[in-house]
Amino acid sequence: MITIIKNIILILGILFPTLQAKENFIQLPMDIAETTFNDAIPLPKEVFGHNIGEQHTRTDQIIDYFEAVAATSERVIINDHGHTHEGRRLIHAIVTSADNQKILDEIQANNQKLSSDPKKVSNKKIKKMPVVAYFGYSIHGDEASGGEAAMLLLYHLSAGSSIAIRNYLENIVLIIDPMLNPDGRDRFANWANGNRGHVATIDLNDREHNQPWPGGRTNHYLHDLNRDWLPATQPESQGRLKLYYNWRPQVVVDFHEMGRDRTYFFQPGIPSRNNPNTPENVFYLTNKLATYHAEALNSIGAMYYSKERFDDFYYGKGSTFPDVTGAVGILFEQASSRGLATSTTSGELSYTFSIKNHFNASLGTLEGMWEMRDEFLEHQRNFYRDASKAAIQFPTKAYLISTDYKKTQVRLLLNNLSQHQVKLHSLKKPYAANNMKFQPGNAVLVPVSQPQSRFIKAIMEKVTSFKDSLFYDVSAWSLPLAAGVDYIELKQNPSAIIGDELPDGYFTAGEKIGGRATYAYIMEWGDYYAPRALYRILDIGIIPRLALKPFSITINGQPVNFKRGSIIIPLVQRDKTLNISNDDVHEVVRTIAAEDFVNIYAVNTGLADDGPDLGGLHAVLEKPKVALLAGTGTSAYSVGQVWHLLNERMHIPVSLINTDKINRTLLDKYNVLVMTDGYFGPIDSTDIKTIKSWISRGGCIITTSSGSNWAVKNEIVKEEIKDSKKDTLDIAYEKVRTTRGAQQIGGSIFELALDTTHPIAFGYKEMIPVFRNNEYFFELSSADAANVGRYTEAPLLSGYISDRLLADMKNTAAIIARKVNGGYAVLFADNPHFRAFWYGTDGLFLNAVFFGRSF
Ligand SMILES: [Zn+2]
Repeated sequence: MITIIKNIILILGILFPTLQAKENFIQLPMDIAETTFNDAIPLPKEVFGHNIGEQHTRTDQIIDYFEAVAATSERVIINDHGHTHEGRRLIHAIVTSADNQKILDEIQANNQKLSSDPKKVSNKKIKKMPVVAYFGYSIHGDEASGGEAAMLLLYHLSAGSSIAIRNYLENIVLIIDPMLNPDGRDRFANWANGNRGHVATIDLNDREHNQPWPGGRTNHYLHDLNRDWLPATQPESQGRLKLYYNWRPQVVVDFHEMGRDRTYFFQPGIPSRNNPNTPENVFYLTNKLATYHAEALNSIGAMYYSKERFDDFYYGKGSTFPDVTGAVGILFEQASSRGLATSTTSGELSYTFSIKNHFNASLGTLEGMWEMRDEFLEHQRNFYRDASKAAIQFPTKAYLISTDYKKTQVRLLLNNLSQHQVKLHSLKKPYAANNMKFQPGNAVLVPVSQPQSRFIKAIMEKVTSFKDSLFYDVSAWSLPLAAGVDYIELKQNPSAIIGDELPDGYFTAGEKIGGRATYAYIMEWGDYYAPRALYRILDIGIIPRLALKPFSITINGQPVNFKRGSIIIPLVQRDKTLNISNDDVHEVVRTIAAEDFVNIYAVNTGLADDGPDLGGLHAVLEKPKVALLAGTGTSAYSVGQVWHLLNERMHIPVSLINTDKINRTLLDKYNVLVMTDGYFGPIDSTDIKTIKSWISRGGCIITTSSGSNWAVKNEIVKEEIKDSKKDTLDIAYEKVRTTRGAQQIGGSIFELALDTTHPIAFGYKEMIPVFRNNEYFFELSSADAANVGRYTEAPLLSGYISDRLLADMKNTAAIIARKVNGGYAVLFADNPHFRAFWYGTDGLFLNAVFFGRSF
């Protein structure tokens, strides 16, 4: 009988193909062995009108579903942990048995003891504790299947009844974070849904499959949130870290999508690329847990792989960060259908298939966590119990940071360390080493021997030797070098000089010295938010002057020395049409001292004791009007970094101009044009002429990394690219990938010598660390005093670079600033604003924005 029915269905299928159409949504409840489902728990369709897999679900719809389930299930609560730049909610569900929910605070407090008081947590206690997991879906907004799988999992665990589900709920507290990047997700979901007709197409030429620039991967300011777990410069990361440290999960799973032609990936990644700061036991647990992921995917016949790709090296990624904070991080990568269905080398791939894989892999993790519960809990307890023991092995015992130089950058660094539960101490006695003097009150000590010992080493150290020469991401990120602060590494125990523990990182207002000025104010240059202050001054119409030479002037009866770059703010504005009263000047000075943390001096005379008088031959500054080339042909990351720096941090308006929109009338509205990374395909020879003629009318072009390479190649600036010959690749086929990779600079830190008499380097010391992740080298410029920055003779500070590239790099130009046919060009060989945590070099770029037409 059954055979007959099957045959009838087959015949009907041939006659009416729609009857046999592929499943284009996930039927709920799913047919899962020995599991029944509670009707009272709402289905996604009942909440937002479509089945899972039928459309790309928007962030508000996912939140609605999570709220609806939390309102009906005793197993689920939901909480908010932040907001995105665009104001979307960041939510998470906590899923566990109804009994556990009643004592959730107690469970959380006990779980915290694994890290805060590990010696008091016995193996016997551990046997009674649930294990805590954090499943984070779709941190890349256009890898959308994760967010859908999160809803399936929530439904399964709240509505389902089976022995397995009971085991999970009783033994696991599961935090489900359904979308780590809501702004990116909605950008993508609205595109995919909005460009799809009634019948989905697998045609890759169709608009559904071709997101416009910048795509949905990144957050509002086009930052990759899966590189931001460590620097945590974005609100999404800050909210998530608070949740992370409040709960301290033992297992973290990071759900992604990769190229459509692959299958499914779960960690372990490439073993030789594990970070050596990660304890071996993490990899033991990862390997053991992998058998559960394999089993879960075996059960549905899904193909998968591990070990051949992805690494566990950079701690800013969601699957690696947990490894150095007492947990185990797992990366999942599903081949992406992007739209509802796509064609691949292995045939058609549907969104529903991707969602099911993530759902099943999630169940695999739960099964493994249930069976390995004690091992994960013991791992975290032992990780923190042995933290001080581990520190004994580390060569550096403490980091001593001066708060005298670049004080706001010091605060930004300290805030980040505090956010990561690093304990900071004051300095008890003066200390001197490496030609630096540290005074109590003006220094912060970070002892390595504390619970976060491994974490501190991993984020602060400089490393120049590596087991492998290939990196999926950067090879160096040392945070004090990135912050550009003065610090030393102490190789001996700091007990003789360590003071009290400091409260969380804090900002102090700048000082206003000398009271209310009767003649002018002078602002010191070089602190992080000084450019924000300068923009406020320019924006109300004041015409300030930039000191090109040092000078000294008497304030309150004492001579005070001012360095190059000091900003002179006259009290009386000569041009009365500006309509700026003295009170307006006093008011803006008060604001910038308080909100931009800069020091301001009040002076009552224009006569200098030494050097030029205030009305002397200083440069007169103009308000920068900045255009930033964006859109097709530009790197969304780099554009986003400039946009974020200027707009979000410095409160400077910047216009993002599409590369296909360049014309004379448009460019003449701006006096600064920024070109970051890109290949700038849409810019043709006419546009290049337009840019050149705009420069000749006094414009300043600022380029960074591949933008600089483009500008030189297209002769916008006549400089020389240094020929860097790649090693021959006449080698065995199997070695091509590794050999080619070893010739790239994935991201390392180098030392630069600056000409600090040049306006582009005002506010800096002569030697600074910079970040580089490209292989463009520029010969020193032959233009007058144009080499503002050059790599030193032995420039490598931290990270990987091949010997040959290092030899090519030394003594090449890193920053060229020069006049070009009546205008100006400032070329950076590197990206000075990398990922928004290179505070140390942001200032060089901002100098170019403000002073790029003043030399
Ligand atoms: Zn991803």
